[in-house]
Amino acid sequence: MSTAWAGGTDAILERMDKMTELFVAETRKAIYTGESATHCEECGEPIPEARRQAIACKYCLSCQTELEKG
Ligand SMILES: [Zn+2]
Repeated sequence: MSTAWAGGTDAILERMDKMTELFVAETRKAIYTGESATHCEECGEPIPEARRQAIACKYCLSCQTELEKG
């Protein structure tokens, strides 16, 4: 009856997946602009290369965690 469900659950889940991907990408862009820093801007600790390659980050993991807590 409802045309909103015409594509079935799989189609809806797929669309949600794409929206989530986009949202994550946009959020990352908004938070992490530009190049990764080699050292944490907060405490000066070196940022592991694996972390810098995963995301363009400016803080070490502990500072990032603190910042995300607010
Ligand atoms: Zn730090």
